[in-house]
Amino acid sequence: MTEVVSISLENEMDLVLAHKRSMKVAEKLGLTVATQTTFATAVSEVARAVIEYTDNGTLAIGIEQNKTRYVLKANVTFNSEIKLTSGDEGFYYAQKLVPEFELTGQNGAYIIDMKLGLPRSLKLDAVKISILKKFFQEEQPLNPYEEIKRRNSHLHKLTAEQEEELRRTKLIDEKKTEFISIASHELKTPLTVLKAFTQMAKTTKEPVSDRLKGILNKIDLQSTKLNSLVQQLLDISRAENGNLQYNLKQVKLNSFIIEQLAVMQSIMPNHTINSTLGDDADVMIDILRMEQVFSNLLGNAAKYSNINTDIEVGSVLDSEGYITISIKDQGIGMSADTMTSIFDKFYRAEDVSKTHAGLGMGLYITSKIVTDHGGKIWVESEEHKGSTFHFNLPSCCIV
Ligand code: ADP
Repeated sequence: MTEVVSISLENEMDLVLAHKRSMKVAEKLGLTVATQTTFATAVSEVARAVIEYTDNGTLAIGIEQNKTRYVLKANVTFNSEIKLTSGDEGFYYAQKLVPEFELTGQNGAYIIDMKLGLPRSLKLDAVKISILKKFFQEEQPLNPYEEIKRRNSHLHKLTAEQEEELRRTKLIDEKKTEFISIASHELKTPLTVLKAFTQMAKTTKEPVSDRLKGILNKIDLQSTKLNSLVQQLLDISRAENGNLQYNLKQVKLNSFIIEQLAVMQSIMPNHTINSTLGDDADVMIDILRMEQVFSNLLGNAAKYSNINTDIEVGSVLDSEGYITISIKDQGIGMSADTMTSIFDKFYRAEDVSKTHAGLGMGLYITSKIVTDHGGKIWVESEEHKGSTFHFNLPSCCIV
């Protein structure tokens, strides 16, 4: 059936709509006034009977092509515990009004079909039917009730679409995480073997030319880099599955920071790291994970600034027992828009993607580690003026 009009049958107000719309469809088809009234009466009597029992009915009116001619059809679907019978006055009356009347269905789900053969003289065809359909799509609401009903149904449709979109996005995200997890596990094994063989080759007693030594060092360096990327991928899938494990130890924060800065300074000789540390405190941290936080934030501070610029690291212990650590660079900074997304998985600022290598994993993992330690992470930045990343950690006892 080509549906022309559809009305949900919820209450008595819908009877008016059912009646008027049935009349209008019959009128637009060019049927006589008597036929219009008969068809509309049958439809509204059935609608009335259905509304008596349930508020979940739907009326659809449309045109169906039988073998040789077109028929006007009204189709009412509804769920009800009670089955309509000829004992229902309206239902009984409607059966008498239309030439074809059929009630089908079981287990509480029913369909009533009412059909009226259309005269050949109407010369209906697919084009005329589609014009009819368009007319009703564009027709103004009959009354304020129908207007509200349409808006409601539009809202319902939008909500359903959004829910579907959300469900699809979630599914894609789950698939992506699953892929990352499998891919990183698969990459890890050959990489470990590659690294082990490179180490063996580097420490061999057999004579090795200087050129080969250089090549081995390069393989070693690149496989270390690759290893750290694979490790980040593994961390992402672990973070997604809630499997990031922490081995917490109580440490004195200031000496831990000083150690981290020394390591990072040796890795980043093109930048000078200055530090101003406040009062010391003990913190409960997973040392390896917290090293990752410092390495990501300091690494970014260097990566996104010009060489020979300074990086300032500071810490402040507040009266509530939280220590805030700040890492300030003089680099490219970022827009307010970028700042809202930098802790998202795989996010990279658009302009940065063309100029700096990276995968957008570091800050996502960093923020996860910080929040899992009971802290918070945030950023202050201005484009071309540098960025300051702050994160805090709860102290377990002030020294
Ligand atoms: P990656 O550096 O691999 O892109 P991150 O997750 O560490 O991944 O960073 C995400 C994005 O945040 C970067 O692509 C960059 O746009 C921005 N960003 C991070 N740190 C800085 C910084 N210190 N200065 C400017 N932009 C930064």
